[in-house]
Amino acid sequence: MALNIEVDFIENKKKKERNYEETQLGFGKYFSDHIFIMEYDGKKGWKNPRIIPYQPLVLDPAALVFHYGQTIFEGLKAYHGKDNGIYLFRPKDNIKRMNKSAARLCMPKVDEDFIVKIIKKLVLIEKDWIPRSHGTSLYIRPVMIASEPVLGVRASSEYIFYIIVGPVGSYYPEGINPIKIFVSDKFVRAVKGGIGEAKAGGNYAASLYAAEEAKKLGYSQVLWLDAIARKYVEEVGAMNIFFYFENALVTPSLSGSILPGITRDSVIKIAKNWGIKVEERMLEIDEVIDGIKKGSLKDVFGSGTAAVISPVGELYYKDNKYTVSDGKIGELTKRLYDEIMSYQYGEKEEPYEWVERIDI
Ligand SMILES: *Cc1c(COP(=O)(O)O)cnc(C)c1O
Repeated sequence: MALNIEVDFIENKKKKERNYEETQLGFGKYFSDHIFIMEYDGKKGWKNPRIIPYQPLVLDPAALVFHYGQTIFEGLKAYHGKDNGIYLFRPKDNIKRMNKSAARLCMPKVDEDFIVKIIKKLVLIEKDWIPRSHGTSLYIRPVMIASEPVLGVRASSEYIFYIIVGPVGSYYPEGINPIKIFVSDKFVRAVKGGIGEAKAGGNYAASLYAAEEAKKLGYSQVLWLDAIARKYVEEVGAMNIFFYFENALVTPSLSGSILPGITRDSVIKIAKNWGIKVEERMLEIDEVIDGIKKGSLKDVFGSGTAAVISPVGELYYKDNKYTVSDGKIGELTKRLYDEIMSYQYGEKEEPYEWVERIDI
């Protein structure tokens, strides 16, 4: 077995009951029997890596994370294939991105290869928690928090890194349905020079207010515009966004305030490989609305680990509603969704070497 890493393991003897239906899993409601955890201090670096029974963290109320929000996370999935294999999709890219987020928030790096091995080990320990129905998976959540108990505003000298995992449902238990998104021209998520390109807790706290406003109007997601001109499209809550015009697939360029999605990168590479012209550039919301009016905009979809590909059926912008692709899933959107899913479940050979099979 390839997982020759030394890490302490204390087995949870009191296994949780798994009394849920795979069709009713939802997202992030159940957590498995074990947690990976390690601590950092300025002198020793990362220490005491271990997989132990899932349990609460004990933190000093003065721990820096509670006061100034020095916290980052990642999200990836393990998939159960029809061939009984367990698959991960580009796991090292998640940990690389976590290290970039860490650098931006003055947090320490982790060893990428070590953490990928730990993820594989934890997934294997929890393999009975990986749901089997199509579209379901084991969600993997690595987190880093500042734990030093001190109230001075500065970078912590102590950290905790942990990974929890749990079964999550298909994003589309009743089939893939287009979402309705609300274009926010009043609130912004991130600004160039800020922490928008890091997967940092503060970005999500900043997004909640507009998300609540959107929900009141019946919209499940917010499409953010740039913070300065308020006219360039950036991204959606936890997804990047794509617009398929007659002559090209367009997505906002990574300007510094947008999260560099791994699904985004996968979509770009696959589409290019299919001979589709892909443009990463600044894109005005007016160009999008124009495209809808003229019929030159065929598909709109979001990309992210949680839903993979989310078709967008309606946009709400400045008191007007705009229907996209007749409110149905567009052809390219469906093709990309099927393609990426088939890689993730190990059903289709892919030339990119993104998929890693964990040998049981
Ligand atoms: C995680 C996330 C994404 C999607 O990234 P993936 O790597 O594709 O899962 C996009 N935007 C935001 C704000 C995110 O947090």
